[in-house]
Amino acid sequence: MPEVRVHQLDKTFGTTSVLKGVDFTIRDGEFFTLLGPSGCGKSTTLNCIAGLEKPTGGSISVGGEVFVDVARKVFRTPEERNLGMVFQSYALWPHMTIAANLAMPLKIRKIGKDEQDRRITDALDKVGLAHLRDRYPHQLSGGQQQRVALARALVYSPSVLLLDEPLSNLDAKLREQARAWLKRLQEDLGITTVYVTHDQDEALALSDRIAVMSEGDMLQIGTPHEIYEQPAAAAVAAFVGRCN
Ligand code: ADP
Ligand code: MG
Repeated sequence: MPEVRVHQLDKTFGTTSVLKGVDFTIRDGEFFTLLGPSGCGKSTTLNCIAGLEKPTGGSISVGGEVFVDVARKVFRTPEERNLGMVFQSYALWPHMTIAANLAMPLKIRKIGKDEQDRRITDALDKVGLAHLRDRYPHQLSGGQQQRVALARALVYSPSVLLLDEPLSNLDAKLREQARAWLKRLQEDLGITTVYVTHDQDEALALSDRIAVMSEGDMLQIGTPHEIYEQPAAAAVAAFVGRCN
């Protein structure tokens, strides 16, 4: 069963059309990347999946469950969607320990104290930071903070992980390391992931498939090999060509 279906998604802000019939299907367990230059509509697409933006047309379903369908006036809130999300800025709560940061989404879901502890340990283990649970965010490096943000997104076992340029605030060396552990984590968990980046190397290294976006539209969807070896349009070739 296809896990994430985005069908004919439209979004306008005022009179500006930002998404123009975006269409793709992500398979269960796939690492799927939206790649394109700044302003092409990647974050808007991701935010529509998360429920943080309301599309003006089209539909989105996950695992057969309809999250939004404009024509049928269906709209699930972000809380009802149970998706894990990590943004470019890590947005950890500075006055809370790492463990308390991870406990927050579990408290909201009314999960008991013992179960909270078990899940927090488990999630921090997954990103290799269980030993830092009692520290505060400012006592961690940027790379570690981003791993905590990822652990916090995983702690309530989301069905899909949405990652919006999660590595772009890291310097080049940290980014390289982060890419390696993200790849390992993906291989371990096999969780369906929608990844947003403007970085072609990152997309190539991490993705099962890539959707190349331009001005609110999908230019091509394919494996990294297909995209780089057989760009479907001059615009794709021009964009991916820049990293060679
Ligand atoms: P990307 O993530 O690919 O850089 P975005 O999805 O953030 O692109 O933005 C796509 C376009 O939509 C941009 O031109 C941006 O200025 C515009 N946009 C995004 N959010 C809003 C908003 N809340 N109001 C008006 N315009 C917006
Ligand atoms: Mg963006």
